[in-house]
Amino acid sequence: MRPEVVFVCAALILGTGAAEAACRPDALGTSRTIVVDPAAHARIGTMQYAETLPLADKEVVLTFDDGPLPPHTTRVLDTLRAECVKATFFLVGRMAHSFPDLVRRIHAEGHTIGSHSQNHPLAFHKMDATGVQQEVETGIAAITAALGDSGPPAPFFRIPGLLRGEAAETYLADRHLMVWSADFPADDWTRISADEVMRRALERLERKGKGVLLLHDIQSSTAAALPELLRELKRRGYRVVHVEPAKPDNPPTPTDPDAWRLRPSAPAIAWPRVPNPALIRTARADLPVPSPQSFGLFYPYGPKIDALPADLEADFTAFYIPTEVAATVFEAWHATPLRTVETHARTRHARPRPAAARVQAAAAQPRP
Ligand SMILES: [Zn+2]
Repeated sequence: MRPEVVFVCAALILGTGAAEAACRPDALGTSRTIVVDPAAHARIGTMQYAETLPLADKEVVLTFDDGPLPPHTTRVLDTLRAECVKATFFLVGRMAHSFPDLVRRIHAEGHTIGSHSQNHPLAFHKMDATGVQQEVETGIAAITAALGDSGPPAPFFRIPGLLRGEAAETYLADRHLMVWSADFPADDWTRISADEVMRRALERLERKGKGVLLLHDIQSSTAAALPELLRELKRRGYRVVHVEPAKPDNPPTPTDPDAWRLRPSAPAIAWPRVPNPALIRTARADLPVPSPQSFGLFYPYGPKIDALPADLEADFTAFYIPTEVAATVFEAWHATPLRTVETHARTRHARPRPAAARVQAAAAQPRP
């Protein structure tokens, strides 16, 4: 049976005032909220796992990773508010520490906040339990600190780069943190236009008919695409579902266990082709695993490098962000000027190898 469409205008639900009350009559809206229990469903998202959220056809869950980062997160929030749509944000701890006002705004506007590690290392597939614990717990602590009296984030976690690993999944399961993969991305971390972000999101949603869409609120192309994407979802009859974690006073939504299973006919969505398999030879995953390059790695002090040496990769795991915001993000995440890291990179590669020599040559070029 088609679920009753309850137009969740948060002024009614949360009593948060005039801004929410300004929902347009033709806004997309949030059709319903489902409450999920991480202890009962440890991992979701058919890009990597057998289960996904128990959605009906034409239902979509919007997720945004890597923020918060002004002005893009601000613009995303403005769009979601204008359309009365609730989403789930997977925040990076260092970003939350740098922009706590945005964390509080995300929460105040009724979105769900999950966590996405402290430093966004693209190394969860090869980290041991201690490393995973450090990244997970410091990230949650940073978001909790930003939220203040509102308490900790939801026990939802998205592994950076979806680079699943045994130690990470074991730790997260023991911690009762629900791992969110996704059902389809829109490749918005790569250097594609807003129109292309929208086209890929819609095309993949149409193929699956429902699911969890992975976007990045730190991307200008995503912020630019979102208004038209939401209008197009409404035009095509899709409905947005909001997801909350179960609590003692908020029990899980009753569901059919089969509703959590991937439909056999649904095609899998893979990540973009990985250009340098040598960098991911230790990865353990069922699908092609993204490398820093597949995220549109931004190299902060020189031309784009096609192949980073593996030991340098560990230092620059975070730079899959567009040039225009790179300096802001870099300094927010690392609290250090770019020049310092440039020097560090040169020092580490005092004995040049072929790949390292290329990096050094790039680093030695004058910066604009
Ligand atoms: Zn991420």
